[in-house]
Amino acid sequence: MPFTKLGLSPFLIKALTAQKYEQPYPIQEAAIPAILKGKDILGIAQTGSGKTASYVLPILQKLQKQAPSKNRHVAALILVPTRELAIQVNDVFSLFGSAMPERVKSFAVYGGVSINPQMIKLQGVEILVATPGRLIELVESKAVHLSDVKILVLDEADKMLNLGFREEMNRIFSLLPKKRQNLLFSATLSDDVNNINEILLHDPLTIKIEAEENTIDLISQLGYFVSPERKGPLLRYLIKHGGMQQVLVFTSSVFQADLVADKLRINDIKASAIHSKKSQGAREEALNKFKAGKLRVLVATDLMARGIDIKFLPHVINYELPRSPKDYIHRIGRTGRAESPGEAISLICPEDQHHFKIIQKKMGKWVTMIDSKDLDLHGY
Ligand code: AMP
Repeated sequence: MPFTKLGLSPFLIKALTAQKYEQPYPIQEAAIPAILKGKDILGIAQTGSGKTASYVLPILQKLQKQAPSKNRHVAALILVPTRELAIQVNDVFSLFGSAMPERVKSFAVYGGVSINPQMIKLQGVEILVATPGRLIELVESKAVHLSDVKILVLDEADKMLNLGFREEMNRIFSLLPKKRQNLLFSATLSDDVNNINEILLHDPLTIKIEAEENTIDLISQLGYFVSPERKGPLLRYLIKHGGMQQVLVFTSSVFQADLVADKLRINDIKASAIHSKKSQGAREEALNKFKAGKLRVLVATDLMARGIDIKFLPHVINYELPRSPKDYIHRIGRTGRAESPGEAISLICPEDQHHFKIIQKKMGKWVTMIDSKDLDLHGY
């Protein structure tokens, strides 16, 4: 469905075209019409899903139609966990807001910087993006009032709870008027998030976007047919010849993870294995080095990989396939991001071929296969 069918104003459509947003992402397709109609939303979606625009666009449009609120009485409040996200979200409001005929002023406030300039700049602000702690300070000093808030957004609610903002959030909820629209976004649906959902949302539209669903098309996937004895050399060839600098390699067992990492090191490629048999200290060290770009290859089993939170990985290599197609999608999903698509490579031995077909069928995508038998792996 194109953006023009979602009920957005021609001004926003023009701005979307200028930004090269050609098609709405799934979360936008579902959320934008519902928000315009005044519905509450529970969006289970991660960064990268396009969730910011899914609430920024309809909020801008709705506020156009309303009389400006009293000075220092914001009409839309967006709560976010971090200063970076506050700035990022406000940038999206400014970007699309500047396309509207009536300017609706937005502003971001967060802690860690002096409060006075923020107090001054809150004049005339109608859309406020805030981290909870700083917002409460500003409310207490009467620099801003929440009694006229018509739309409340909680973005990355799970992170806010993880960072211990629960009490502040409750305090903020108590300052809001009863009648308002609530939009809650969270990457996961933990008990805590569910709890907030129950006290906050009224008959919400629930939208669940699997992380992989929207990123899978961004990932360039490739498979190499290879004989078992050439697997190690092929892996090293791909890393060295391809100039890969940050690679997550998956194996199916602890034993293989160690073996692959050892062989990489012997061949002058900085590598560590991360798995359940390693001490916590060793795991953390390997992970930190890998994240900092000081370790070229991290060899992991699926179990450990679940706990690896890296924003973007350029390369994922399946040295061995996972048993379940879901795990395959989870593995490769670590590399797709809107701004920088990644690459996922699978090494397929004759005995894996049937299983790889099943994975591809489940995923709904066919992977380009290359026969590695003609590659000269001598010296790798
Ligand atoms: P978000 O999940 O809101 O952080 O958005 C992730 C990235 O996707 C941002 O860089 C947006 O600019 C971009 N984006 C969001 N929606 C679209 C779209 N419909 N088409 C193209 N890019 C988009």
